[in-house]
Amino acid sequence: MRDAILRKLTYDLGKSRTGALDRDWFMATALAVRDRVVEPWLNDMRATYNTGQKQVYYLSLEFLIGRLLRDNITNFGLMAEVRAALASLDVDAFKVAACEPDAALGNGGLGRLAACFMDSLASLSIPAFGYGIRYDHGLFRQVIRQGWQEEYPEDWLQFQNPWEFARPEIAHSIGFGGTVEEVVNDDGDTHHVWKPAETVLAVAYDTPIVGWRGKHVNTLRLWSARAADPLKIDVFNRGDHIGALSERVRAEAISRFLYPSDDSPEGLELRLRQEFFFSSAALQDLIRRHLRVYGGIESLPERVAIQLNDTHPAIAVAELMRILLDDHKLPWPEAWRVTHGTISYTNHTLLPEALETWPVSLMERLLPRHMQIIYMINAVHLDAIAAAHPGDLGLLASVSLIEENHGRKVRMGNLAFIGSHKVNGVSALHSELLKKTVFHDLNMLYPGRITNKTNGITFRRWLQQCNPCLTELLTETIGAEFLDRPEALTALKPHAADAGFQGRFAEVKRTNKEALTKLIRQQMGIRVDPAALFDVQIKRIHEYKRQLLNLLETVALYNEIRAQPHNNWAPRVKIFAGKAAASYHRAKLIIKLAHDIARTINRDPTIRDRLKVVFLPNYNVSLAEVLVPACDLSEQISTAGMEASGTGNMKLALNGALTIGTLDGANVEILEHVGAENIFIFGLTTEQVAARRREGWRGQDSINLSPRLQQALESIASGVFSSDDPHRYGELVHMLREHDHFLVTADFDAYFDMQRQVEKRWADQAAWQKSAILNTANMGWFSSDRTIAEYAQEIWRVPVPG
Ligand SMILES: *Cc1c(COP(=O)(O)O)cnc(C)c1O
Repeated sequence: MRDAILRKLTYDLGKSRTGALDRDWFMATALAVRDRVVEPWLNDMRATYNTGQKQVYYLSLEFLIGRLLRDNITNFGLMAEVRAALASLDVDAFKVAACEPDAALGNGGLGRLAACFMDSLASLSIPAFGYGIRYDHGLFRQVIRQGWQEEYPEDWLQFQNPWEFARPEIAHSIGFGGTVEEVVNDDGDTHHVWKPAETVLAVAYDTPIVGWRGKHVNTLRLWSARAADPLKIDVFNRGDHIGALSERVRAEAISRFLYPSDDSPEGLELRLRQEFFFSSAALQDLIRRHLRVYGGIESLPERVAIQLNDTHPAIAVAELMRILLDDHKLPWPEAWRVTHGTISYTNHTLLPEALETWPVSLMERLLPRHMQIIYMINAVHLDAIAAAHPGDLGLLASVSLIEENHGRKVRMGNLAFIGSHKVNGVSALHSELLKKTVFHDLNMLYPGRITNKTNGITFRRWLQQCNPCLTELLTETIGAEFLDRPEALTALKPHAADAGFQGRFAEVKRTNKEALTKLIRQQMGIRVDPAALFDVQIKRIHEYKRQLLNLLETVALYNEIRAQPHNNWAPRVKIFAGKAAASYHRAKLIIKLAHDIARTINRDPTIRDRLKVVFLPNYNVSLAEVLVPACDLSEQISTAGMEASGTGNMKLALNGALTIGTLDGANVEILEHVGAENIFIFGLTTEQVAARRREGWRGQDSINLSPRLQQALESIASGVFSSDDPHRYGELVHMLREHDHFLVTADFDAYFDMQRQVEKRWADQAAWQKSAILNTANMGWFSSDRTIAEYAQEIWRVPVPG
């Protein structure tokens, strides 16, 4: 390994040992590790074709990967070797690892799920490709200036990406616009030929994805956009040097930026171009591979499973139909059988504003042949329903692929539903709500199509790599079996009440909290006590996730401490991190409020160490890897019925945090697994939330019943935290008093009271540690290996080699 690293440094980077920067050592190490990956990777791909195994294709507009060096080194079992090699070269392995930029090709949970799934597919030896876009710039870098979020472009490719292999020879033509011609052949059959006005090339970049213990290696293939004709020589020669490049600029814009929107589609043509670009490239790629190996297109459903991660790749339904009808001349019913048998779709949200729709006029202009096919799919679909339910116009309107009300739009959720043999939600509650709400009518027409696949996380990254101390303690205590079979963590249960083990478990947490304490001091200049309760809310900033509820409780607690400074308050550090979509003004105002509250409380001498508030900037996977192992209390407090699953909740509980949360998303299943004594559940249920909204309840109704909440709101509204601009939060407080759509005020008292229960438990450290251990012991089910095995068996119908 030492020689390999030195060779890379010399011959690939052209540097000497003395002149090498940490970044050069990172590149050299990564390239040396990559060399070990290549042969198993090529062997695995060859074996897949030789044995005719079914391939899984995971289509996702987002992959929130983070760093890969430690991931590849641990999965391949090379940690000791790499450490020793770097030590012998007098190189600091930590500094080297820190040079790797995060691959942040995603916004949050949805993109991180795709990354966890890639890890689990490889670890279960299921042959798979991930398909996405190689954005030049991933999720923006968040900088906080005077408490306000500012967005800066992120530049992860600036110093080259050592993990990827460029494949300039793998380039597919992606068409846009143009016309559709009807051609009658010699047999008198009519065929359609799409003549795009514009063509963009999708060029492949491959990253090998190493499974646990290096057992299997899969491919993440990301597409980059290139102009088919990058430079117009004649235009250039006429002296228009910029105009000569215009086509290139337009084409390459497709893979320039990740859309920084977590919840609602940007109503932008470029976004639709991105979606079609990568869906079409993926389909062309996998069909070419299939034909090379198996000859005929009809066998696609037996050899290929395509999973759509949300509706972003839903246009794949129409594109696959187009390829089958127009290029392969399949008759309609056969093309539909192949499409429907191959594709399945995962829904990630019930928020109506987040269900993608595209104006018919835009689709007709950008994808004219696809629009025809969508009309045809709709006609076949609606005719069958009209025959079975004569006269039910309401039903037809609700299940149609076209929304007729607010300007004609294509409903991508309905397209994905109709075109798939299985549709899944991502937690038990969410899947039930899908049947009751957004897909109520479609579920009635196609019973059994909706199924549940509760999300999971990869324990490689979220336990072994981010928490080596805990991993070591667990291995010493219950053996190494849990590394391969996460359910084996239950062997920890008998140790939960053992005082000796509790002490060691607490010591590990303390070590991780000290590391976070150091980071907080370095980054923020704030001193926090690692003995305090670390209360952590880390996730995208969104009203439904209710950071505002946490902030109101913080203010109320602050008021209480000031009113009774001599009480025996348990020291607590409230830690926040998360990004707001750049255009989401209220979320950005919530970030500002967190900073205003933090500044006031942290400098108040009456509070001292009993309450500190910290907002860590630029939340990403690497920061999560420091925060997750150091958390005591995990905040999962979304309005019930609004968080599809959550995966942050799983990472934190696995690492021995106790959850304070609502009955929402996967919290419901975490409650079932860890037991009611080891979790703090509060607040309105989904049904109660719906009832409140129906009744026309107003925030003021709850505020009137809670003097504590009233006081907290008044201090915010009157400028206690914003003396420089006392009216800054007037509108925010007004919103809470009026409609308060996310029921922050309705849940406030229950939340405040539950936080006091948390403090009681914390005061009894033996009881707390016992609960923390039982969280770790009972979280094995939330491994994404379990999730992927369920997809494999029930949706993709591929064997799980194990
Ligand atoms: C896990 C993760 C998320 C998702 O967190 P939720 O609490 O489930 O919303 C978002 N961002 C990053 C960086 C993550 O690691």
